[in-house]
Amino acid sequence: MLKFIGSGSAFNTKLGNTSAYYKVGNQMLLIDCGSNIFHRIKENNLLEGIDHIHVLITHTHADHVGSLADFIFYSYYSHGEMAKPNVSVYSVYDVKIEELLAINGIMPGVHCLSKKCQSDTQYTFNFCKVLFERSSHVKEIPSYSIELCIDDRLIYYSGDTNTLKESLRNPMAYDYVYVDTCKADYEGNVHLSLRKLSELVNSDVRSKFWCMHLDESFVRQEAEKLGFNVVTNEF
Ligand SMILES: [Zn+2]
Repeated sequence: MLKFIGSGSAFNTKLGNTSAYYKVGNQMLLIDCGSNIFHRIKENNLLEGIDHIHVLITHTHADHVGSLADFIFYSYYSHGEMAKPNVSVYSVYDVKIEELLAINGIMPGVHCLSKKCQSDTQYTFNFCKVLFERSSHVKEIPSYSIELCIDDRLIYYSGDTNTLKESLRNPMAYDYVYVDTCKADYEGNVHLSLRKLSELVNSDVRSKFWCMHLDESFVRQEAEKLGFNVVTNEF
């Protein structure tokens, strides 16, 4: 369903930072824009035929927003009509994305459009319905998961998290569940280990789950053997 520009964790330079996208006509949905994502978007010509990009931000760790400012400036000056904003940024108000962009010299309303959202509230734009939900990640900054409805399909995108909400353990309502999964497994981990995911999700519903945000020691076959899917980068 969703495609991925990158599917790795912060330090997994080979797979790139995790960032999903979906295109409908001349519109593109992008989830997060980590440190190496702008480079990958440009190198892979991902904006060809795209007039407007809707960017959803889960949280402000660099592997999720590190190249957002570059991406917005590039879109403003070098993609489409010069000096006309063609990026809309959606995030929950306490993620403070406008403040972050301002430090980078970007003026929301001029270089991009910005929509501050409330959590647990559904918003509709263009081809998509979006709802942000607080997730459990780190104590320093707020982090959100995203529920998406596209073409009548319900998608859950965990963002960074170290657990799964109760209703996801038997996710009848969802068609696709994308979840932060890592090999690293230790007390206090701010991501969800494959071992923990296996404990939380019964084997009969695992085919709905797609592991993403993979660390370098993550073994794809190990997750697949357990019945989970693993995302691949796709342009
Ligand atoms: Zn994070």
